[in-house]
Amino acid sequence: MQLLYVRYLASCSVDEIQCVTQTRRRIRCTAKVLGHGTLRGVWTLMPVTAQSGQLALPSDVMAVYNLSALPYQEQMRWRSQRCPQHDATPTAGDLAVADWEPFDPLRHHEHVHTRLPAHRRRSGPGLGNHAPRRAHS
Ligand SMILES: [Zn+2]
Repeated sequence: MQLLYVRYLASCSVDEIQCVTQTRRRIRCTAKVLGHGTLRGVWTLMPVTAQSGQLALPSDVMAVYNLSALPYQEQMRWRSQRCPQHDATPTAGDLAVADWEPFDPLRHHEHVHTRLPAHRRRSGPGLGNHAPRRAHS
């Protein structure tokens, strides 16, 4: 993921990144950073840039969830790993530490993908919640 000119490795998939804020009930907020109606990043093929060493990399580009086009404030929200609601209430404390890890193409080589991820959209409303219909036997 690229935000505020830095590439990070998230600890889970983009839509699973969880808010770090502690709620009034003293548990971690279960909302996701990528909330409904929030601006989305764009999967982009970007150059793999090694920050150290001269090792040849097996690929030139990698798929990055790019947030660079988002407003600064929104990128800050992502980096502080807060859901939209808690970003609006700065007084709420954080229960967990944002778990971004600066991306290193050599150490994190297994996360370098040269193709954009295929969109896995769920089928229309109502279809996803039911078990697949079985054929009569
Ligand atoms: Zn939250």
